[in-house]
Amino acid sequence: MKIKDLHTAFLANPSVSTDTRKIKEDDIFFALKGDNFNGNAYAQQALDHGAHLVIIDEKEFYINNKTILVDDALSTLQDLAHYHRKFCKAQVISLTGSNGKTTTKELINTVLSSTYKTIATKGNLNNHIGVPLTLLTIQLDTEFAIVEMGANHLKEIEFLCNIAQPDFGYITNFGKAHLEGFGGIEGVVKGKSELYNYLIANKKSIFLNADDVTQLKKLSTYPKKYGFSSDNSKYYNIKLLDAQPFVAIAVENTVIKSKLTGTYNFSNACAAIIIGKHFNVELSKIKHAIENYIPENNRSQIVNKNGHYIILDAYNANPSSMKVALENFDSLKREQKILILGDMFELGDAAKKEHQDIADLAINLNFKQVILVGENFNATTTKSIKLRDFADLKVYLEVNNLQPKSSILIKGSRGMALERVLKLI
Ligand code: ATP
Ligand code: MG
Repeated sequence: MKIKDLHTAFLANPSVSTDTRKIKEDDIFFALKGDNFNGNAYAQQALDHGAHLVIIDEKEFYINNKTILVDDALSTLQDLAHYHRKFCKAQVISLTGSNGKTTTKELINTVLSSTYKTIATKGNLNNHIGVPLTLLTIQLDTEFAIVEMGANHLKEIEFLCNIAQPDFGYITNFGKAHLEGFGGIEGVVKGKSELYNYLIANKKSIFLNADDVTQLKKLSTYPKKYGFSSDNSKYYNIKLLDAQPFVAIAVENTVIKSKLTGTYNFSNACAAIIIGKHFNVELSKIKHAIENYIPENNRSQIVNKNGHYIILDAYNANPSSMKVALENFDSLKREQKILILGDMFELGDAAKKEHQDIADLAINLNFKQVILVGENFNATTTKSIKLRDFADLKVYLEVNNLQPKSSILIKGSRGMALERVLKLI
C-alpha cells in the first residue's frame, strides 16, 4: 500500500495505536517490535478489538485483507507521520535540550492554546516512535503542533527533524545528560544542535535563550532568531524577580507569578513567553496561562506531608539538573533542610567523577542532612549518609525519623523511582 493510500485510510478515522491494550475501534494498528515483544504477534488481537487496518512486517502473521504487509512497520509509521505533517497546515514548533523539555513544552502549549488550536506531545513521547505518534494527532484545523524531541545519541534529533520538519525550534540548554550515548558534553552540544542545523539549512526560525553563551555563539550570524535575555538589551527583556518559593517574572509592565519552583524554571517560562509574544498572544493571556500551570509527574512538584515541605523532583536527574536543583534548594529560605539524592544513570565513564562532584557539592552547601542512595553515590568518598539502594533507604527512614517540619529535596534518575520515598515520610 502506498503511503498516500494509507493516509487516505487514516483520514477516515485519524487514530493509530501501537498497543492492543489501548486500541480503540477503527484504529490503525502498527505492529512495532521492542526488546521483549513483537507487535506482529498481536495482529489478530488488534483485529478482534476492531482495528480498521493492521500494519505488519512479518508475513506469517498475515490474516486477511485488513492486514497490510510492509517491509518495516516502524518506518511506515514514521513515513505516514511525515506525510500527514506535510498534508496539514499546522506550524510545527520543535524543542529539544538536556533539561526542561517537557516543562517548556507544556508551558508553550498552555500559552499558545489560549489563542490558537494546538496539539502537543503527550507526556514524554519524544523519541522515534513518540514523535510520529504526536504528529499523527495534528488535525486539519490545528494551527500549532508543539513537538518535544529527545535524544541520547548523535543523529537522533536530525532524524526526528526530517520526519517533523519543524518551522520553529527552541533548545532549552546543553547539559550533562546522556553523556554515555553522546560521548561527553561536546557530543551533547553537537547532538542537540542538530535542531539548529536543520532550521538553519531550511531557513526556518529559531527561538533563543540569549542568556546562554553557547547558544548565542552558535547563532551569532543567523538572522532568523528571536531571543530573550535578562541582561542582553538586544533581545526581548525578561527579568527574574524572585524564586522564593516560586519563580516570579517581570515582562514589560506585567508581573507573572508562576507556581514553578527553582530558578531553572525561569528560562523554561521565558521560552513560553517569547513564543507567545512572537505569535501575538496577549500578555494578559500569557500571564494567565503561566500562572495556572502546575507541574506534575514528580517534576519539581511541591508536596506538603506530615508537616514536611517536600520538593519532589524524582522524575529524572543528571549532573546539570542536580547542580541547579541543589543550588536552588540551598538558596531557599527554609530551616532544617534534608537532601535525599539517588544515583544518576547513563553517564558511562563519567559516572564516578560526576557522582563525586555532586556529593561534594551537597556536603559543602548548607544542608542539615545529606542522604545519598545508590551504588554510584555509595562509592563516593563523601562523609554523609550513604545507602546502597532503596531497600536500605526504607530501613533507614523506618529507624530514623526525620525531624518534624523538615524541608526535603528528593531527586534521582527515573530508574531510582525516588517518589517511593513519599510513602515513607
Ligand atoms: P526528559 O529528558 O526525561 O524528557 P525533560 O528535558 O523533558 O526530561 P522535564 O521533564 O521538563 O525535562 O524536567 C525534568 C527535571 O529537570 C525537572 O524536574 C527539573 O529538576 C529539571 N529541569 C527542568 N528545567 C530545567 C532547566 N531549564 N535547567 C536545568 N534543569 C531543569
Ligand atoms: Mg521530557
